[in-house]
Amino acid sequence: MSGLRVLVTGGGGFLGSYLCEQLLNAGNEVLCVDNFYTGDKRNIRHLLDNNRFELIRHDITFPLYVEVDRIYNLACPASPIHYQRDPVQTVKTCVHGAINMLGLAKRIGARILQASTSEVYGDPLIHPQVESYWGNVNPVGIRSCYDEGKRCAETLFSCYRMQCNLPVKIIRIFNTYGPRMHPNDGRVVSNFILQALQNQDITIYGDGQQTRSFCYRDDLIEGMMRMMETPEDCCGPVNLGNPGEFTILQLAEMVIDLTGSSSKIVRMPLPGDDPRQRKPDISQARELLGWQPVTDLRTGLTRTIAYFEELLREDPAFCGVTVPTTKGV
Ligand code: NAD
Ligand code: UDP
Repeated sequence: MSGLRVLVTGGGGFLGSYLCEQLLNAGNEVLCVDNFYTGDKRNIRHLLDNNRFELIRHDITFPLYVEVDRIYNLACPASPIHYQRDPVQTVKTCVHGAINMLGLAKRIGARILQASTSEVYGDPLIHPQVESYWGNVNPVGIRSCYDEGKRCAETLFSCYRMQCNLPVKIIRIFNTYGPRMHPNDGRVVSNFILQALQNQDITIYGDGQQTRSFCYRDDLIEGMMRMMETPEDCCGPVNLGNPGEFTILQLAEMVIDLTGSSSKIVRMPLPGDDPRQRKPDISQARELLGWQPVTDLRTGLTRTIAYFEELLREDPAFCGVTVPTTKGV
């Protein structure tokens, strides 16, 4: 895919900024829309001089009128600390944002992809998670603004497909990490790396036996772009993630090992509704997209550690780790 005009909502964020970069590298024009709720201009400043790149500061809960061929809808706070800060705004971004972007896609005849999430499976009772599993989500818990918001967005995408024949695509992203993660968003990979690099205590919530499957950013974006270019009848949802499954304790030990840190592991209360296990079944992604991750956790962590080392040197004030003090237990 090249020579297209592509809208990326949330293009100032961790994943969105790398997607913008890859779309430009492939020869497209990119319109990046972001309200910088959790994104950062640092992520895209190297793109601002490119005459195929345009930045619009805009909140997608309000309508947007532009002409594009493709819409990647990534705008939404993604880490628990960020999406729980203003739960109402999170729901609005998921739901009103989806309605606005779907309305735009319908009006201009654009293809549209939704960045959904493994959180739609909640605390899953089926392991690994297959797309046909409907999930186990608490609709009134502290994570529900995000989980249910994203589920409703999936519903809206499906309705527009069924009712308006819109070429929609849904991907369910599992925990993704890499350079440009926000240092203060409280996610486990950025927290552990920054804590280890500063020889601070590594904060494990609960007993550390909960599992996650960590996908490196570049692999994820490759899968996302492949999904967008599948035939029109390939709508998903399709899981995108790395099936390698690790306990949070194993992750902490690996980060300590790779950084040579003298950090000690400390325990903190487990936040409410924290999923106990998570691992994608990626058979569909393999079959439909010919995609699977190629970066193992040690390799991806090594690159991410190098990124945060440099960030700590350049901008230490930006790198304070966020851990909850009053998160629900
Ligand atoms: P991020 O917080 O770095 O990026 C989200 C971007 O959306 C930010 O730049 C933010 O400012 C912007 N944004 C938020 N609300 C907005 C609004 N109302 N209008 C316009 N812009 C808005 O997070 P990320 O990790 O890059 O996640 C990107 C997308 O991928 C999100 O939709 C997220 O739900 C999804 N996702 C990410 C992961 C992951 O592990 N990174 C996992 C599952 C799903
Ligand atoms: N976690 C942790 N210490 C931290 C941050 C997170 O033990 O400093 C745990 C968290 O409770 C969860 C896992 O790591 O079990 C992944 O958390 P993250 O916020 O990265 O993503 P999510 O819970 O949305 O998968």
